[in-house]
Amino acid sequence: MSAPKTAACVIGWPVKHSRSPKLHGYWLNRYGIDGAYRTEEVAPADFAAFLGSLQSKGYVGANVTIPHKEAALALTKPDARARNVGVANTVWFEDGELRSTNTDVEGFIGALDAAAPGWDQRTRTALVVGAGGAGRAAVYGLIERGIKTIYVANRTYERAAELADHFGPSVKPAQWADIATLLPASDLLTNATQLGMDGQLPLDLDVRLLPSGAVVSDIVYVPLKTPLLAAAEARGFATSNGLDMLLYQAVRGFELWFGVRPEVTAEQRAMLVADLVKR
Ligand code: NAP
Repeated sequence: MSAPKTAACVIGWPVKHSRSPKLHGYWLNRYGIDGAYRTEEVAPADFAAFLGSLQSKGYVGANVTIPHKEAALALTKPDARARNVGVANTVWFEDGELRSTNTDVEGFIGALDAAAPGWDQRTRTALVVGAGGAGRAAVYGLIERGIKTIYVANRTYERAAELADHFGPSVKPAQWADIATLLPASDLLTNATQLGMDGQLPLDLDVRLLPSGAVVSDIVYVPLKTPLLAAAEARGFATSNGLDMLLYQAVRGFELWFGVRPEVTAEQRAMLVADLVKR
């Protein structure tokens, strides 16, 4: 059998756990594309050289994951999303240059659109808990959607303050202890920390303080239904989970590398859920 015409990969260290090959493999199959999506385990010291030889290795682009996302930004020509989030997770060749973006921004927004259509029309104030890479991607997505007031609460307050400084007056830093005070005016609540992940403590806040009609989202996807999302669902709030964010963030990369804008499907989601349960 001849080698596939178009190939992409996810570069990480370690990377064996990545769900991306399954996720992109599903679309390659669905759209009948003669392509491949592989994992490439690359140590930090070798990353720059690997990226430099991406084309000669037969790749049209790649996802980049921990610990290479900052280096990917520095070694490529980033778009506004990657620059503003401060890390890049997707690279591709365009006009002879290696370009980069951060697709967590559209992953976060795409998951919200799917779970709660019209959420942006109803959101005057959002509260993002967490000021790391995922928190920055969420905040930038909310700014792009025109949300007027975005509070960012972080365990380390200085990180929230830096983020607010970077993004300007619509973003307001908050102390961790202020979360309870902010909840009653938050039309959207997002967990962008590891809290709630298997093996971690839950994010300890009282969703009953949220206004009626609020939307609650979580970037954690192991478990699929975090304690936060379970509590929110029990109160009748619309919820958006981290697996949908993972699925929607993959759309742009696939389109850039393989030339088809793919659709996230229920069958694909079920396949990934089955995989998460198995591990
Ligand atoms: P990061 O840059 O390391 O940031 C971690 C964030 O979590 C920081 O705000 C940190 O606060 C906070 N945090 C960690 N432990 C905490 C604790 N015990 N109590 C309170 N806050 C705590 O990581 P990241 O890149 O933003 O990723 C965060 C999580 O999102 C990871 O679990 C990642 O797998 C997940 N993620 C999911 C998707 C998706 O597609 N669903 C996409 C990207 C990331 P401090 O600043 O105080 O340390």
